[in-house]
Amino acid sequence: MNTEALATDKAIRETVIAVHRWTDDLFSFKTTRPQGYQFTAGQYARLGLATDSDPIWRAYSITSAPDDDYLEYYSVTVPGGAFTTLLKDIKPGDGIWTEKQSYGFMTADRFSDGDELWMLSTGTGLGPFVSILRDPMAWKKFRHLVLVHCVRHAKEFAYQDQLFALQKNSPEGLAKLHIVQSATRETENRSGRLSGRITSLLENGELEKKVGIPITTASSRIMLCGNPEMIEDTRRILHLRGLRPCRRALPGQFVTENYW
Ligand SMILES: Cc1cc2nc3c(=O)[nH]c(=O)nc-3n(C[C@H](O)[C@H](O)[C@H](O)COP(=O)(O)OP(=O)(O)OC[C@H]3O[C@@H](n4cnc5c(N)ncnc54)[C@H](O)[C@@H]3O)c2cc1C
Repeated sequence: MNTEALATDKAIRETVIAVHRWTDDLFSFKTTRPQGYQFTAGQYARLGLATDSDPIWRAYSITSAPDDDYLEYYSVTVPGGAFTTLLKDIKPGDGIWTEKQSYGFMTADRFSDGDELWMLSTGTGLGPFVSILRDPMAWKKFRHLVLVHCVRHAKEFAYQDQLFALQKNSPEGLAKLHIVQSATRETENRSGRLSGRITSLLENGELEKKVGIPITTASSRIMLCGNPEMIEDTRRILHLRGLRPCRRALPGQFVTENYW
C-alpha cells in the first residue's frame, strides 16, 4: 500500500472505530476525528484510500453532528466502483485518510430567512440531513423541518430509528420535524409512507398534502441531495413555481448537491 503518498499537510490518517451494515450494500462507519477538524452540519469530507498505484479520493457527506468527537459517514457500495470496492470491507482498526478541510455549501445558514426547511434526498443523499438534524442550528432557525427520503426498497430507509427518535424527543419551542418516506419499488407501503419519486410527489401535490404545508417562495427553503437526475428534474419543477437557486450574491430558495 502506497500510504506515504497520502501523508501530506492536507490529509491525516484517521482510524475506523465502528461500522454499521444497514443492508448488503449500504453501511455507515465512524472514524476518529482529526484534531481541530471543523465543519458545519451539511458539509462533506474528502476521504482517501491507498492502493498499490495512485491513492483514491472521494467526497463523503458527514452524518455526525459538529460537536461529536468522531466523524460518521453513510455509504453505498457501487458495483465495480474504484473507491467503494475498497471501502466496503473496512472494519474497526483500519486507517482512512481524511483531508483536514471540510467542504460544501449545503448548510442551514445558507438561508437568511424562511419558515420551513425542506430536505429532499434520494438514497445516501440522506447523509447531510442526518447531520443537520443532529445539530441545533436548523431546529432554532426554522419552524418546520421536512425530511423527505426516497429509496427503491423499504429496507433502504437507513437511520430511520434515529430520525424518528429525534422527531419524538425534540424539545418544546424548537421546530417541528416532519419525516416523509417514499419507496418507489414497493408494491405495498407501510401506512404513512408514500410510493412515488420526489418529482412525481411534487408534481401531483401529494408531498405537500402529506406534510400539510405548501411550498412557497416566501417561506420554503429547500435542499436537494443525491441523484443528479432527481436534482435536475426537481430544479425544473421548483423553477416553474417561482423558486430560484441561492447564488453567492443573490439570495434564493434552494440549494443542491449532486453526488455524481
Ligand atoms: C459532494 C459529494 C458528497 C458525496 N457524499 C456521499 C456520501 O455521503 N455517501 C456516498 O455513498 N457517496 C457520496 N458521494 C459519492 C462518492 O463520492 C463516490 O462517488 C461514491 O462513493 C462512488 O465512488 P466509486 O469510486 O466507488 O465509484 P465510481 O467508480 O466513482 O462510480 C461512480 C458511479 O457510481 C454511482 N454512484 C456514485 N455515488 C453514488 C451514490 N452515493 N449512490 C448511488 N450511486 C452512486 C454513479 O452512477 C456514478 O456515476 C458524494 C459525492 C459528492 C460529489
